[in-house]
Amino acid sequence: MRYLTYNAKTFRNIEYMRYLPEEVKQEIEIVSKVIPFKSNNYVVDYLIDWENYENDPIYILTFPNKNMLREDQYERVKRAVDQNLSEDELYEVVNSVRLEMNPHPAQQLTNIPQLNGEKLPGVQHKYRDIVLFFPTQGQSCHAHCTFCFRWPQFTKQLDLQFSMREIDKVIEYIREHEFVHELLFTGGDPMIMSPAVLSGYVDKVIDAKIPNLDTIRFGTKALTYWPFTFLPSYNEEAEEMLNMFRRITDSGMHLSIMAHFNHPVELENEALQEAIANIRETGAQIRTQAPVLNHINNSSQLWANMWTKQVNLGLVPYYMFIERETGPYEYFQVPLAEVYNIYSEAIRLTGSLAKTVTAPVMSAAKGKVQILGVVDNPLDGKKYFILQYARHRDYSKTFKPFLVEYDEKATWVDQLTELVPNSI
Ligand code: SF4
Repeated sequence: MRYLTYNAKTFRNIEYMRYLPEEVKQEIEIVSKVIPFKSNNYVVDYLIDWENYENDPIYILTFPNKNMLREDQYERVKRAVDQNLSEDELYEVVNSVRLEMNPHPAQQLTNIPQLNGEKLPGVQHKYRDIVLFFPTQGQSCHAHCTFCFRWPQFTKQLDLQFSMREIDKVIEYIREHEFVHELLFTGGDPMIMSPAVLSGYVDKVIDAKIPNLDTIRFGTKALTYWPFTFLPSYNEEAEEMLNMFRRITDSGMHLSIMAHFNHPVELENEALQEAIANIRETGAQIRTQAPVLNHINNSSQLWANMWTKQVNLGLVPYYMFIERETGPYEYFQVPLAEVYNIYSEAIRLTGSLAKTVTAPVMSAAKGKVQILGVVDNPLDGKKYFILQYARHRDYSKTFKPFLVEYDEKATWVDQLTELVPNSI
């Protein structure tokens, strides 16, 4: 299968552009100055219903649109483009808009650990038991999702990226922190790397035989955006990738593929289903995760269908996220109360094997906050959300439910008032 990449400069070559009015193509050009744009021929040819592109979830996830910027932001960028500014001047305008879009939510840059007094810029260690590694060559994706909280990593001008190549230092760090037992390769998407490059990292981890490390995870969208990564009949490197998975499981470590699926349409293609079967044959487990997004998947029936289909394919539904306050979140955000309703109704609609999902989660500065429920308090006559940290920086604070005042419009934990201040 030939791999074709499209970006903001080349998307007009896509034959389906005939479905789009010229005005919409110009809007894509303006908005993609701010929101990184990238796609490939699999996404464009197999996942989008072009005759219904305006409402198509994968089109919206792939092609930036005018409503993803505030009106004043759109006008500033459009004016800069119309004025034919120099590249430097244009980027000054573009970056001023990007900096208004909260490029680093949840204080990600504060989670960078040190080894022997030296910062490890491609590592995050927020939760006691797991270390995240951002390999330099994996800081892109097969397509860039318009909602992605990692969007600043795809914009070189923001200079806020974090990544590194020195896996030896990561190994030493994990060995020195004996309570760490999971290593997550993330990005971008580590599966955008060739198996040879990725194996260069992974084999060193396997060979290191770190006594406390028992699990390797890969966070990836490759199953949806380029399933040929795992199909030897279409891609000569695929067997090498699957063999690398086998080396991990043969070493006795658990391998978990953390796959992003935003919509059931992503599960329908035969190539994807064959890729799932090939991965499972290596002994790896595939767990699934995605945020609830306005315009894409804010429906309980849709989530119930998606989880049921995933279970039928041998996948384990794992996380339902709440969209972070970054990038074009005003376009995608769904209030917490509505997310909880979607989750609870979807859970009611699924069979028991699909009830493995962690209740809707916000990845906030202190940790992953779950919405466990909504209750009426007869003592004060008020309504409350029951929350708890599924993960907290301070692990002694995990799994301790607490109450916050119910707010129908709130979209993030920092907009809520605790019943007992500073209880967590
Ligand atoms: S990291 Fe995941 S959500 Fe973000 S652009 Fe890549 S595939 Fe999409």
